[in-house]
Amino acid sequence: MKLIRFGKQGEEKPGIQLDNGNLIDVSSKFHDYDEKFFSSGGIEILKEWLNENQESAPKLDDSARLGPPIARPSKIICIGLNFKDHAEESGFETPEEPVIFGKATSALSGPNDNIVIPKGSEQTDWEVELAVIIGKRASYVEESEALNHVAGFALHNDVSERSFQKDRGGQWIKGKSADTFAPLGPFMATVDEIDDLHNMNMWLKVNGEQMQDGNTSNLIFGVQHVISYLSQFMSLLPGDVISTGTPAGVGMGMKPEKYLKPGDVVELGIDHLGSSKQNVVAYER
Ligand code: ZN
Repeated sequence: MKLIRFGKQGEEKPGIQLDNGNLIDVSSKFHDYDEKFFSSGGIEILKEWLNENQESAPKLDDSARLGPPIARPSKIICIGLNFKDHAEESGFETPEEPVIFGKATSALSGPNDNIVIPKGSEQTDWEVELAVIIGKRASYVEESEALNHVAGFALHNDVSERSFQKDRGGQWIKGKSADTFAPLGPFMATVDEIDDLHNMNMWLKVNGEQMQDGNTSNLIFGVQHVISYLSQFMSLLPGDVISTGTPAGVGMGMKPEKYLKPGDVVELGIDHLGSSKQNVVAYER
């Protein structure tokens, strides 16, 4: 299944993207794709409900705004430097253990919403990433059990302000957390939709020019390892988002460095997880 959320920002309702591409509204039966939904077997209940009701559920028209495909989670945890080529372009050694950082959950936005360059920013950058959405509480889980704790996967742009991230002291979260810095979706694909998690092409273009061209086969720490690893330090709750890292081709790695400016258009995609498109705009109060 492909879970979507639609409607005005902050008022999104749950829906489904059917295999034929049609979008339907399931809000008559389901409140939202949130922690409670995932922890109470929502995915199974939804699957059964669709068997009976998908023909009669209201259809959305193509102009409906998509929100992030899950409700605001308890946390977004990102893995840094998880591709060798990206670690190199960033001037770091390949990490021996996963590098992790947080991203404010208020950064979440819809897949095709604008990216707003924050006040005072001169180094807003892009990062196409595979995001994992947790389905079942995970605490001290083994790698072999990790996928049993996953609800699904989504396309994520881990938008980053490099100066805030690196030049302002402290931790990377400063450069990762501005509003609109986490466009997620278009949909969350449930685990059964993905045949080979570690063989998915991922790409990103700016103004039509290809910047990133990677594959999840090159992740240093794979999805199961990352979930198991994080669960040694914190409980991962249903609905939580883990973003697994970006391949080479970010603006910071270019010579000269290249950053987003108002009017730019960012497009990205991952096999089986769809594509998204964000227009870049300046901050206005
Ligand atoms: Zn990232």
